[in-house]
Amino acid sequence: METYDVVIMGGAVMGSSAAYFLAGNPDFNGTVLVIEKDPTYAKSSTCLSAGGIRQQFSNTENILLSKFGAKFIKNINSYLQVENDDPVNVDFTENGYLILATQAGKPVLMQNHDTQIAAGANVQILEKDQLKEKFDWLNVDDIVAGSYNIPDSGWFDPHCLTMALKNKAKHLGVTYMTDEVVGIERTGNRVTAVQLSSGKKIGGGVFVNAAGPKAAQVAEMAGIDDLPVHSRKRFVFLYKCNTRLPNCPLVVDPSGAYFRPEGQYYICGISPDEKNDPDCDDFDMDYSVFEETLWPILAERVPAFDAIKRISSWAGHYEFNVKDQNAIIGPHPVVDNFVFINGFSGHGLQQGPGAGRGVAEQIIYRKYQTLDLTCFEFERFAKNNLYIELNIV
Ligand SMILES: Cc1cc2nc3c(=O)[nH]c(=O)nc-3n(C[C@H](O)[C@H](O)[C@H](O)COP(=O)(O)OP(=O)(O)OC[C@H]3O[C@@H](n4cnc5c(N)ncnc54)[C@H](O)[C@@H]3O)c2cc1C
Repeated sequence: METYDVVIMGGAVMGSSAAYFLAGNPDFNGTVLVIEKDPTYAKSSTCLSAGGIRQQFSNTENILLSKFGAKFIKNINSYLQVENDDPVNVDFTENGYLILATQAGKPVLMQNHDTQIAAGANVQILEKDQLKEKFDWLNVDDIVAGSYNIPDSGWFDPHCLTMALKNKAKHLGVTYMTDEVVGIERTGNRVTAVQLSSGKKIGGGVFVNAAGPKAAQVAEMAGIDDLPVHSRKRFVFLYKCNTRLPNCPLVVDPSGAYFRPEGQYYICGISPDEKNDPDCDDFDMDYSVFEETLWPILAERVPAFDAIKRISSWAGHYEFNVKDQNAIIGPHPVVDNFVFINGFSGHGLQQGPGAGRGVAEQIIYRKYQTLDLTCFEFERFAKNNLYIELNIV
């Protein structure tokens, strides 16, 4: 049986980041295998994401993870360039995030702002007049303030980041295998091997669950049936507007709808309310979300968006942690050679570098060395110590 020191199940942003940070750490000299069923990543959360990075979170650790994400993206070649290869370019558009609040939402906006400032985030509060002055295309009639985050926030190309992490990990000696994990063998409290759809069996010392929206199914194969990660469908619509909006950041409306420029076009989306958000595996589109829900909100917020045309759209899946909408990172408390990097609930792309680094530290040192991510431990559910993130877009 082929055996590796670390076997990573899923090779998109989380799996490849963990692989890169393991292989790149001089204190680690083991072998790493990444098993990925679809090397095109066509249906991965990563490649269907909106590519956003911001620091406007309500939890300190999420802010710090995203701050590291920004540092990583802005200095990507110092981390990921491979000698003699072209430089990596993830096309970072540093236009910022703007989260708008009505009078009712202002106390939470300000409370989050204090947490962000304490964590060293580059955020500022713009009052109504300042918003109007800076973004004259924005209707602020019902808005009292906005949280504006620039620099270190905006959007970048998720596929490029994943391919660069993978390329560098391979260069550092990580093996990538195209196959699907269909079974996991356990002896007592240790996982010993994975079974693959090809019929192969792979042994290992540590097993990392980086299966995105399929994380709960993979955990179940190891006899862990209480990972609260559900697959939840989110639509992204690309649309055209002939009016350009100068300095347009990613804008989050008080309704939860968001929009931002995408090249010469714009993209937008909105999360449904909890009761209209079933578990979902398909990628079927519901265009009424654009026509009936989003368009009226967009046109109210930006009068120029009254005249827009939908160009294309796609659906992707959030790996949604139904308990507290936050990541689950680190080893299982009992099956301690089974490590989670799951449940990012819509903000995982930007946290990929920091989460992968944390998982590598847990595997190598059995404790965090840089950023303490203990708050994301799986045990918090058993301890009833939920860590709720309020800023879910
Ligand atoms: C529409 C949308 C918009 C988003 N916008 C943002 C955003 O603006 N900013 C942000 O930070 N985040 C965003 N996210 C969230 C972010 O994309 C995810 O949190 C992140 O990409 C999760 O990465 P992952 O590697 O865990 O999962 P995935 O990217 O889904 O990767 C999991 C991989 O595991 C593989 N796999 C699964 N099961 C198996 C198996 N049994 N065997 C082998 N391989 C397997 C899959 O093929 C897949 O490639 C968005 C997500 C969506 C869907």
